[in-house]
Amino acid sequence: MTVHSKKIATGISLSHQNPEFDITIIGAGVVGLAIAKYLSEETKYSVLVVEKNDAFGTETSSRNSEVIHSGIFNHIDSLKYKFCIEGNKLLYNFCKENKIWFNQCEKIIVSKKEEENKLQLFIKSLTEKNIDFELLDSKQTEKIEPNIFSDKSVLIKNSGVVDSHDFMNHLFRISSKNHTYIFDSKPKKNYKKS
Ligand SMILES: Cc1cc2nc3c(=O)[nH]c(=O)nc-3n(C[C@H](O)[C@H](O)[C@H](O)COP(=O)(O)OP(=O)(O)OC[C@H]3O[C@@H](n4cnc5c(N)ncnc54)[C@H](O)[C@@H]3O)c2cc1C
Repeated sequence: MTVHSKKIATGISLSHQNPEFDITIIGAGVVGLAIAKYLSEETKYSVLVVEKNDAFGTETSSRNSEVIHSGIFNHIDSLKYKFCIEGNKLLYNFCKENKIWFNQCEKIIVSKKEEENKLQLFIKSLTEKNIDFELLDSKQTEKIEPNIFSDKSVLIKNSGVVDSHDFMNHLFRISSKNHTYIFDSKPKKNYKKS
């Protein structure tokens, strides 16, 4: 694969004109960066991450709500639920270790009187999923957030927000120091296997 000379990674230079890599990752969003970090720390493979933009993490990964999800809406049998529960803990720990800004501010889900049936089903699903929550009445909810008017609400303890930009900066920094190179590479229509 031709790699354009313009390089996103800082402080890294390649000694070889036509370098070869064990693994190529296409796309330096949060997923590509997280995979690169894992490979750079846990394996000896050399890794190339190609990114079509001038910088990493400039698409969906930097335009989202930055919520650290708790798995409440994912089906209990789904991989999304499994990874969400696992990722929730890992992300908070990673943020603490690396001093990345986060706020485990919790989440309030409100319900009206006429939604009692739905609320009960929701609570049942939270219990089945072993999700840490508290059922609040309107006064308790108002005390936490005066702008909310509800009959009952559910406080989800493991929900929070994270500085996704700083998170990606750290993924990039860690993977860059361990034989991973991140390049700006305009996408081509015909990638060929070499
Ligand atoms: C509105 C919105 C809100 C969201 N809110 C949240 C939230 O609060 N919490 C949460 O956990 N998730 C949220 N998500 C989901 C989350 O943002 C995505 O799951 C995540 O960003 C996906 O990361 P990614 O690396 O797969 O994709 P991207 O961030 O899109 O990264 C893909 C990268 O690949 C590059 N690329 C693509 N094609 C090529 C090519 N051919 N050659 C080279 N480079 C290429 C792109 O330029 C891009 O940089 C939200 C999503 C949306 C849309």
